[in-house]
Order: sequence, then structure tokens, then C-alpha cells
Amino acid sequence: MNKLKQVGVTALDAIGNRLLSPPYGGFGYFYNHGPRDSTRIALTFDDGPSKPSTELLLDTLGELGVKGTFFCIGLNVTWHPDTLMRAYSEGHVIGNHSMWHSRKAGLMPLGGSHIDTSAAEIARVIGVFPRLYRPPWGWLTPWEGQRLQRRGYSVIGWDVYPPDWKVPEVSATELTNFVYQRVRPGSIVLYHDARSNLIRCEKTETARSLRQLVPRLRDEGYDFVTVPELLGLPAYQAAGIGRSPSHVEP
Ligand SMILES: [Zn+2]
Repeated sequence: MNKLKQVGVTALDAIGNRLLSPPYGGFGYFYNHGPRDSTRIALTFDDGPSKPSTELLLDTLGELGVKGTFFCIGLNVTWHPDTLMRAYSEGHVIGNHSMWHSRKAGLMPLGGSHIDTSAAEIARVIGVFPRLYRPPWGWLTPWEGQRLQRRGYSVIGWDVYPPDWKVPEVSATELTNFVYQRVRPGSIVLYHDARSNLIRCEKTETARSLRQLVPRLRDEGYDFVTVPELLGLPAYQAAGIGRSPSHVEP
């Protein structure tokens, strides 16, 4: 990509992030945090499942006694159904993060197969359909918000976004300090347990950061809960949401 084009793309990304993503964007569809008068916070993990990164994270959360909320990409579920099943059976909540992590699919005025296909893929493994959705890149148009509402989804944003998506990895200590300085009662923290379109992911600093962060915040009186617990929302439903996958829009 030439330099001018790169600058253009970067500018568009910045505008899109501001208009469509938390904390300002999303046209009122996002839950960006829970009650500010409680001691509860929720840890969320995007873009998985993957190996070995999600497995390391599940080991870590198990040792810390924390349940997280995983926003999974359908394609990654196809690659790693056993890892998804492990997360679900260990008590973590599974949310939908679209089939291919495509921003473009959510920007289209018609469609929705990127939502439904992923939900069906998750349900094929864990037996229930997720009711939480987080759009890829956090970009939510009003029509995508309506599509999600029609299907019965709650759209989950965040209010703390550590830079653990960067390559090479940001150190655990930096990630921990970033979260520690910004977290508040009711916060939803967005970490990553994978990278989209990558079948194998070797991230380790996110798990290390949690080992530093969780005891530190517990000492200050915080409790770690899942997103449905934080917001008082249902996590799943038994059948397909809204239109069944066989009746998805073109
Ligand atoms: Zn993502």
C-alpha cells in the first residue's frame, strides 16, 4: 500500500472508530459498562478460540478462580471446537463476534449471515445460541444494531481496552498498569485471546497480565463476574435467535 493510501485508510479508521465504536459510537446500542455503584467488573476476551493462547488463558483463569466472557469468531470455532467446548464447560460465557471478523459485513445495509452463521457454528458445538454480540472492531452501524436487536442480541462494548492486540506483544506489566489506571466499578475490560484469521496464536502476555491484575484488584475489593452477571442479561437461548439460520437475509 502506498503512503498516501495508508494515511487515507488510517484517517478512515480513526473516523470510524470515533463514530461507530465505544465509548461514543454505536447509536445507543452498546452496553459499555455495568452499574458504577457495585464492586463488580467483567473480563472479556475477543477473537478466539485459538491454540495455544486460549488454552493458556483458560488454565490461568481456572487457577485464579475467575469466569470470563469470550466473544468468539465463527471461523475460529470451526478450527478449534474442543477449545470452545472446554471454555463453555468450565463455566465461561460464550458470545458471538461474527463469522469472519469482517467490518465490511456489518457496514452493509442488507445482510446478517455473518451473525447467524457464527451463532449456528457456536451452537453446533455447545448446544445453545449466544445472546451476546460484540461487533468486529467494535464498529456498529444503526442498521447492524437493528439487525442484532431483531435477533434478540445484547450488544456488548467495553470501557477499558488494553493494547494486547499489538504485534509484537506489549508486556504484561504495561497491560496491567493500563487496566489498573482505568478500571472502575462496573467496568468491562477487553482483552484478546487470539488474532482474527490466525489458526495458531502464541500470545502469552495477556495471561501473565491477569496473574498480576486479578489479585491486585481483589485486594481493593473488586469481584470478577461474567458479562451476563454484570448486566443482568441472559447469556443464551435454546433455539436460533430471530430468524433461523435457514432464513438468513441474502
Ligand atoms: Zn475482534
